[in-house]
Amino acid sequence: MKLKLNKGVDADLRAHAKETYPHECCGLLLGTIPDNFGDKDQTLIADESRRLDNTWETETKGRRYKIESNIFVKLEKEFAGSTRGVLGIYHSHPNHAAWPSPFDLDHAWPSYAYLIISVREGTDREGRVWLLSEDRNSFVEGEYSCL
Ligand SMILES: [Zn+2]
Repeated sequence: MKLKLNKGVDADLRAHAKETYPHECCGLLLGTIPDNFGDKDQTLIADESRRLDNTWETETKGRRYKIESNIFVKLEKEFAGSTRGVLGIYHSHPNHAAWPSPFDLDHAWPSYAYLIISVREGTDREGRVWLLSEDRNSFVEGEYSCL
């Protein structure tokens, strides 16, 4: 999988990750859904991102994120009849590497690109993107770049 972000999207989600530090941020990556969506060879181009509130309880917000499921119901309506939709989900890892946690694996959905931004001492460091494997037991790393 290749995930390409336009520069504005990349800048905004990195800014979001820094603003919420030391809590995790989360949000959506939006763009045109490709015909081979979910395929490990897919190329996803995110031209829009949408910040979401991390609704996880405060004590563990540094290690967890949660997205209200009604967001997806609203988006389905918004994108009905269009080729656009949710390509993936981004979130930050404050003071941790951009590798998915066991929690991330348990809560991941197929097809979506999971972009993780590592933030240390308030500065964004690396970004890595992950796709759930076909057997759903692990993540496969993809390529992440900016347009
Ligand atoms: Zn995570």
